[in-house]
Amino acid sequence: MEAHTASLTESLSPRTSEFIAREDRFGAHNYRPLDLVIAEAHGSWVTDVDGRRYLDCLSAYSAVNQGHAHPRLLRVMTEQAARVTLTSRAFRNDQLGAFCEALATRCGKEMVLPMNTGAEAVETAIKAARRWGYRTKGIADGQAHIIAFANNFHGRTTTLVGFSSDASYRADFGPFAPGFSVVPFGDIAAVRAAITANTCAVLVEPMQCEAGVLMPPDGFLRELAALCHEQNVLLIADEIQTGLGRTGAWFACDHEQVSPDLYVLGKALAGGFYPVSAVVGSREVLGLFEPGSHGSTFGGNPLACAIAREALAILDDEGLVERAATEGAWLGLQLEALTHPAIRAVRGRGLMWAIELNEPARPWAETLKARGILCKETHGTVLRLSPPLVTSRDDLAFLVQQLQAVFEHRSAGI
Ligand SMILES: *Cc1c(COP(=O)(O)O)cnc(C)c1O
Repeated sequence: MEAHTASLTESLSPRTSEFIAREDRFGAHNYRPLDLVIAEAHGSWVTDVDGRRYLDCLSAYSAVNQGHAHPRLLRVMTEQAARVTLTSRAFRNDQLGAFCEALATRCGKEMVLPMNTGAEAVETAIKAARRWGYRTKGIADGQAHIIAFANNFHGRTTTLVGFSSDASYRADFGPFAPGFSVVPFGDIAAVRAAITANTCAVLVEPMQCEAGVLMPPDGFLRELAALCHEQNVLLIADEIQTGLGRTGAWFACDHEQVSPDLYVLGKALAGGFYPVSAVVGSREVLGLFEPGSHGSTFGGNPLACAIAREALAILDDEGLVERAATEGAWLGLQLEALTHPAIRAVRGRGLMWAIELNEPARPWAETLKARGILCKETHGTVLRLSPPLVTSRDDLAFLVQQLQAVFEHRSAGI
């Protein structure tokens, strides 16, 4: 494995090496990217500084479901940027209302609170739930309690990593906020046991993508929604990665006909052009924010709103949710047919798939990169495959061919 990585490093062009050296010298090393330097991207394909092309099978963690540089987003972004980009919420702008209406309608909810990054939206949902806990449920001041799940990923703020079960997310960042319990993912009895009179919310990813595309047992989300309803606890679905078509439905909760009290959305909400996130829910909950109680300089800015409204419309107009279902089902069949001693399991839904290996996934990602496929290991031994929802059948077939070649090649002991 050492030799394998070294040989790939040696093959880097002087041009690529120069970009990497500069980045590594002046940029903090909080990621371990694959060694290619992207200069351009359109649709499902990216081009590096040496002119090599790769099929993007990560989609910026599902932020570019609509494909890179979607022409409609480019047009709306350019036109809106020429008019007005930022007003702050000190004044109103002519884009916010239409965006909130479109998103609330799509979610079957009453209100939207726009933010920028996913982590901020999760923080906003936590604030909303606590406020509802104090003001509506009657929890004593300072006692509100939230249940989350083992192997969760909700973002990188100090509060959110405080209830992560991943040591590398937490190490030397404490002290952490109290008020959270963590129970095993998919274990309804454990949730029931963890609920107290002070519990205001359960925070769940309907599929744990960062943890390696882990799916709860069938029926779990429905049971969880029923339990929350019965116990007067809010259900918060973090659909930042699973939402907006990725799993072959508008929201992963749809697979079990669950409508959570709060949706947390981000990533594909602006098709990769801009950071836009939002919490979507009822007036009963989001109506508890009065002026001054929460805010963001950039949240709800006209540029963000114009882009996000167009990004939602593209998903609709191009039938991308249906494409994720049909193309994803096809891809899944091909992946399940791969056989190799290193493959432990294949799982997924829509266009979110994982190949779990018996060994580190990074060298496999490097090998795939050399064959024109970009994907990234997650949690050490899992290759996540989540191409843009616009990816053609031919391009998906190219992905399958490369996977077949790579797994055959390696099984031959080379
Ligand atoms: C990416 C992600 C987040 C965090 O979003 P950022 O925009 O990186 O802050 C939160 N939850 C889930 C499920 C995610 O996939």
